Amino acid sequence: MVERAESESRKLLGRLRDTMASQAAGQERLDQITHLTADSMGTEVCSIYLFRDDETLELCATQGLNPESVHQTRMKLGEGLVGRVARTGKVINAADAPSAKGFRYMPETGEEIYSSFLGVPIQRLGEKLGVLVVQSKEAREFSADEIYALEVVAMVLAEMTELGAFVGEGAALRARHTQPVLIRGVTAQEGTAEGHVWLHEPRVVVTNLVADDPAKERARLTEAVENLRISVDQLLAVASGDSEQVQVLEAYRMFANSKGWMRRMEENIDRGLSAEAAVEKEQSDVRARMLQATDAYLRERLHDLDDLSNRLLRILTGQGNKTGAALPEDPILVARNIGPGELLEYGRQLRGIILEEGSVGSHAAIVARALAIPLVINAKRIQIEALNGDHVMVDGDQGVVHLRPDDTVVNAFRDKMAMQAKAQERYASIRDKPAVTLCGKTIRLDMNAGLMADLPSLESSGAEGVGLFRTELQFLVRSQMPKRTELAALYARVLDAAQGKRVVFRTLDIGSDKVLPYMAAEEEPNPALGWRAIRVGLDKPGVMRMQLQALLRAANGRPLSIMFPFIAQYDEYRLARAEVDKAVAREKKLGHTLPEKLEIGAMLETPSLAFASKRFYEEVEFLSIGGNDLKQFFFAADRENERVRRRYDTLNVSFLTFIEDIVARCAATNTRLSFCGEDAGRPVEALCLAAIGLHSLSMRPASVGPVKHLLRRCNLDDVRKVIHDARDAGEQSVRPAVMEYLRGLS
Ligand code: PEP
Ligand code: MG
Repeated sequence: MVERAESESRKLLGRLRDTMASQAAGQERLDQITHLTADSMGTEVCSIYLFRDDETLELCATQGLNPESVHQTRMKLGEGLVGRVARTGKVINAADAPSAKGFRYMPETGEEIYSSFLGVPIQRLGEKLGVLVVQSKEAREFSADEIYALEVVAMVLAEMTELGAFVGEGAALRARHTQPVLIRGVTAQEGTAEGHVWLHEPRVVVTNLVADDPAKERARLTEAVENLRISVDQLLAVASGDSEQVQVLEAYRMFANSKGWMRRMEENIDRGLSAEAAVEKEQSDVRARMLQATDAYLRERLHDLDDLSNRLLRILTGQGNKTGAALPEDPILVARNIGPGELLEYGRQLRGIILEEGSVGSHAAIVARALAIPLVINAKRIQIEALNGDHVMVDGDQGVVHLRPDDTVVNAFRDKMAMQAKAQERYASIRDKPAVTLCGKTIRLDMNAGLMADLPSLESSGAEGVGLFRTELQFLVRSQMPKRTELAALYARVLDAAQGKRVVFRTLDIGSDKVLPYMAAEEEPNPALGWRAIRVGLDKPGVMRMQLQALLRAANGRPLSIMFPFIAQYDEYRLARAEVDKAVAREKKLGHTLPEKLEIGAMLETPSLAFASKRFYEEVEFLSIGGNDLKQFFFAADRENERVRRRYDTLNVSFLTFIEDIVARCAATNTRLSFCGEDAGRPVEALCLAAIGLHSLSMRPASVGPVKHLLRRCNLDDVRKVIHDARDAGEQSVRPAVMEYLRGLS
């Protein structure tokens, strides 16, 4: 019986292949497929429904239903049995369709005389394309073999759709990947960019779906799986130490050795598919399961299996990452996700980045921010929709992607970019001027950095120095712990590039969202409140000591500023400082040149430190408010959680009053104070911070111009009054009042 089913489906596939090879126009091909499927399966009806838009299905070809209804009958997603198959991605097999749940009668089709119904989704790599249906008068359920056969036809249809087999005269079908698409994602780095798509992982195109010689295909599959196992083992050998990567690779290995996986693919071959198509069929089933899975762990594993199938497809088709396509001149990178190292390899040549997944705090986002490349994350379906070379516009300000935009969008977008360019010219014209307000206050504007690649911005942005150098980025982008000599050389290059401008090095701030691939991460119930930053540095001081030594050597007699992250109480500062003293003593003993001037500060990122004793304020040489963390703890709103991270305004009176209090404490003890969270780079926020007494701000290089431009137009005394009046009036946020003030500026 199985054998008969195999040869039946092989026969059907053979006929399909002839259709694929024919010169017929798109519609004719579709008609032929419905005809031969109905014929092979012994049903009176076979119909193909394809999506016209995201919500609407259209009957595009039929054998057996009223031909007049082709391209006339339409249904919404979820409507009737066909709509349900499309929405759920699941097969419906009903002996008595009219009495099945959700049945909807379409009078124009003449389908009332058919009793049994079998509908399977047409989908490719998880993308829904339509529904394939067979119907017959006889009231019967279809067998598992028949379902399989129809699924295979659906898969072939999906591949042919991808290859553009159904476009052309009379087809009334849209060519795929030609229409404009708008994708709404989430902003991870502001800015706008226009360019052409570069797929980090180009999709594999399978052209030979059907094969006559199952033995040969089995052998090809076996060999490819063997190669796959070897490559996974090799990856595992070099990945040891990186627990997360090892975990994923272990899962790969488990799947690569799974008999069930192999057996299902071999069965696909026995039914007439080529080895590639067999892998793709299995992958498609996995994706369908992935859509249903609600358990996060299971979904992750299914993702692993999906990745593994991709690798196998690449081996079988010989289509590696290098497809021969040349990187466009204005590449916009499209990927599911990307590691920081890979992103750095592309570097500044990228105009923009679009990720299907990702998170605001991911390492990739940190690198994109450091490189000032507009980044949109959570751009659902971008990988399905985009092809290499597609024209694309990335609106990092709005978190929107315009793929293959039409002229109206292109013009509007270019206008926006032109306006931004004009603004940039304005900023460039004041680059070498100080940020002096109308009331005569000078505000120091520094920039944040973390990579060597950031340093040229010191010149171009007009920043006075580096107010925050996030040293962890160097650790995050490597696969191994850097050595002291490497770090010393790097820090020395940073100081060289700064040419005497002040650089504040922040010691390693890891933990929470910043997990080093080569350090065993401990599961923590709440990582943002967990073992991170200085807590790690003090409990396991080895790395911090190495880093302090590297910094002292790099300075080689020059002035040096060191700042400790996440100090929550006086004692932590004292202990950290003692480490510096020890390092200095050791260097002295070894005869190395000591920094001409050494200043040691702390980041104020927890409310607790704001209320530390006066003695602490007297002792610390400078403080920098890490507004990103401070705000999340002040409002108890996770900075990584999209649901709450924008819920509370920085210009909320409680927060500003709190900052004012810190300013007052520092003023009383003459402690140097700055602010280096993201808010320092937002012009209106920066203005308010300056107005309440923060006269030193550190921000992304691209923000220096806009912030300076606004400060130079404002009178801080007036702004302070606006803020205080709004507070006295009981406003929750001073933003509306400040915006009103700004509108009144000439
Ligand atoms: C901050 O918390 O504001 C800060 C500057 O540090 P990071 O964003 O690196 O945590
Ligand atoms: Mg922080």
